Amino acid sequence: MASTHPSVQPVAADRMPALLRAMPKAELHMHIEGSLEPELMFALAKRNHVPLRFPSEQALRDAYVFNNLQEFLDIYHEGTMVLKTEQDFYDMTCAYLARAQADNVLHTEIFFDTQTHTGHGLSAEVVINGLYRACADAPAKFGMTASLILCFLRHLSEEEAFECLEQALPLRDKIVGIGLASSEVGHPPEKFAKVYARAKQLGFRLVAHAGEEAPPAYIWSALDVLKVERIDHGVQAIHDAALMQRLAKDRIPLTVCPLSNLKLRVFPTLAQHNIGAMLDAGIMATVNSDDPAYFGGYINENFTQTFAALGLTAQHAYTLARNSFDASFIDASLRAKYLERLDAAFETFR
Ligand SMILES: [Zn+2]
Repeated sequence: MASTHPSVQPVAADRMPALLRAMPKAELHMHIEGSLEPELMFALAKRNHVPLRFPSEQALRDAYVFNNLQEFLDIYHEGTMVLKTEQDFYDMTCAYLARAQADNVLHTEIFFDTQTHTGHGLSAEVVINGLYRACADAPAKFGMTASLILCFLRHLSEEEAFECLEQALPLRDKIVGIGLASSEVGHPPEKFAKVYARAKQLGFRLVAHAGEEAPPAYIWSALDVLKVERIDHGVQAIHDAALMQRLAKDRIPLTVCPLSNLKLRVFPTLAQHNIGAMLDAGIMATVNSDDPAYFGGYINENFTQTFAALGLTAQHAYTLARNSFDASFIDASLRAKYLERLDAAFETFR
C-alpha cells in the first residue's frame, strides 16, 4: 500500500521543484566512482601523474553520450584509473556527500567495488578505508549519515567475487551490505548464488541490480535465488504482472534511477518512464542518481526532471521520500527521527 500522510496538501506544479528540493530524503543507489566529476578527475590525474586521453574537462564531459550500459561502463572504468590513494577515495566521497547534503539527503548507502581497483594494483584496504573515513566523518561534516555497500562486478566470475569477499572480510564492520553491478545482460543473478549465500551467512544485507536492461526473469532470480532485500533498477518488472504483484505484496523496494535510464536509453524519454505507473501499482519505488557525474544530475535533478515530465504530485513526492527511508538499512530509531523531519518538512512547506 502506498504511504499517505494527512498533512500532504496539493502543491501547484510550479512549486513542486521547491518541494522536491526541500524534502528530506535518502539515496540508496549511487556508485561512488560514478560521482567523480571531470574537474576532480583531472585534479586527481594531475596529483597522481596519470595521463588522460581527453585534452580538457569539457572534452571529457562531451564524451558522455551513451547508446547503452556497456558504452557507459567502458568510459567509467577509464575514469577510475586516476584513483590511487586512500586520500583519493576520501576526497571523492566527501565531494559526493557535499552534493548530497545540498540536495537534503539525510542518509545515503553508497555503492562501491574493489575489483576495479584491485585490478589496477590497489589493495581493498586502501579503497575501503578511504571511503569509510568519509562516511564516518559525514555526521559531523555534512549533517547526514552514510554507509557502504560492496558490489561484485557481474561480468567477472563467481570465483573472483568470492576472492573479493574474502579480501573485504577484515574490514567487515565498515560494510553494511553486498550488491551486484556492471554489465547485466548475459550475467544473470544465479551466476552468484553461492557467494550470495555466503554473504548472507556472514550477516550482510543483500541487494542486486536486476531488470535494468535484462528481462523480469533476472528480478525473480535476484529475489528467489540470491534472496536480496532490494532490487536496484527493476524497471523491467512492469512487463510481468505476477512479478508486479509479488513486489507490491512483499513491499520489495526498487531503487529507480530515471536520468540513468534516460541516458542509457532504457526509456526513450522521461515522459515514457514507468515510475509513476509503478507507484500507482503500489510498488515501493525510490528515486536515485546511479552515476550522477555521467548521467546529468544528482538526486534532486532526478526528482525535478521526472516530476516535470510525468506530472507527478506532492503525494507521489511524499511516498517516494518515505519509501527511501523505509527501504534503507538504518536502525528503527534513526528512521523514526528522519521520518519526523520528513513529515515536518511537508507540514511547513508553503
Ligand atoms: Zn547502478
